Amino acid sequence: MNITTKLLTREERGKNIPARDIFQFNPESFWVKSQSSPHGGYSVTNFGGKWECDCPDYRFRQMPCKHVYAVEAALKPKPKLILSVWEAPQ
Ligand SMILES: [Zn+2]
Repeated sequence: MNITTKLLTREERGKNIPARDIFQFNPESFWVKSQSSPHGGYSVTNFGGKWECDCPDYRFRQMPCKHVYAVEAALKPKPKLILSVWEAPQ
């Protein structure tokens, strides 16, 4: 597949949504700013472990959309970086 025509997956597009565009109301409900319209946004809610979003993509497919992936990526604990051990020069 030509690199210029490759579409990002929903998961990749979700991870590209910056953290400042994700707002948290409580542990189960979030609001993700629309990446295409300056005033829009979508509610992402956790219903007993299942994420749902009110965007057209989710409502049509009933599958995780980029907003769901964005929230999941934001909540995922970041792995700690393994730092190099300093060894004094001999
Ligand atoms: Zn969505």
